[in-house]
Amino acid sequence: MTSPMPRPATAETVTVTTGRRLAYLVVLVLLPVVLLALAVPAAWGWGVGPRDLVIAVVMYLVSIFGIAIGYHRLFTHRAFKANRALRIALMLAGGMAVEGPLTLWAAEHRRHHKYADREGDPHSPWRYGDSGLALLRGMLHAHIGWFYTARRRSSRRHWVPDLLNDPDVRRFDGAYPAVVLLSFALPAAAGGLWSMSWAGAWSALLWGGLIRYAVVHHVTWSVNSIAHTFGDRPFRTRDRSSNVWWVAMLTLGEGWHNWHHVEPTCARHGVLRGQLDPSARLIRWFERAGWAHGVRWPSADRLTTLRAAARTSPAEPPEVSRPAGPSL
Ligand SMILES: [Zn+2]
Ligand SMILES: [Zn+2]
Repeated sequence: MTSPMPRPATAETVTVTTGRRLAYLVVLVLLPVVLLALAVPAAWGWGVGPRDLVIAVVMYLVSIFGIAIGYHRLFTHRAFKANRALRIALMLAGGMAVEGPLTLWAAEHRRHHKYADREGDPHSPWRYGDSGLALLRGMLHAHIGWFYTARRRSSRRHWVPDLLNDPDVRRFDGAYPAVVLLSFALPAAAGGLWSMSWAGAWSALLWGGLIRYAVVHHVTWSVNSIAHTFGDRPFRTRDRSSNVWWVAMLTLGEGWHNWHHVEPTCARHGVLRGQLDPSARLIRWFERAGWAHGVRWPSADRLTTLRAAARTSPAEPPEVSRPAGPSL
């Protein structure tokens, strides 16, 4: 991001209205849990057929790649540049995850990087302390609690003025309710057309729409809760970002979170041997196809130096200062 104009001095956070917090509670906290609970008897009772499974997996991949490559690596961190068609496609794919408008998502995430695991971080699992119940409570807060408990959210004017100036992003965020509808209409239409029946449309809506969105949410949020709590930390950072292989697999590369906090603008998160990063692989394909350019790949020299530094003086768990006060 190169902006020659000085940023206007704006507050980092703005108040969230009660109505909005209630909407967050329903869409981001309660509904996914209820849907996941429903999925168990549904799967137990009549199972999930191959048609619904295919539709759900495709929708899952589109949503997670859309968040990882689009919302996160492209728009929030500018890890690469993409032509307009790819930018719009990635925006829409990210929208399928139903994790909020792009500017809101990016604003919260940029604030997370600035204050990771310190006062000001919107979702640190270390918020209440580092022992037993306090940590469990912190993980719940980092996973989903903060959506509802936060009295203030990140100001878009402060954190993402570049995205607010992007006409395509503005149009996307303006049409966000329609994008959410599409996230459920697409699997339903696919199931209906595939089976040529209403029953097929309904069951695809359940598995490829509702249950898939609930799973996508919890997989994404596990980066905030689990990959800031457990796992190894091969690089030294000021925070507790870590690598958890199974989170990395479910998030298509995002669970290699330790390096990501060392170099947030890097297009590859899994930088060490054996760290599979499907999102980085896809960005490489986009680059080869000529759709992406200016990709920030990791420098081998820098990786070697930083690994050696971490080996000679292993990372102490950094101090975590607990945010004070009821906000955030
Ligand atoms: Zn993080
Ligand atoms: Zn990030």
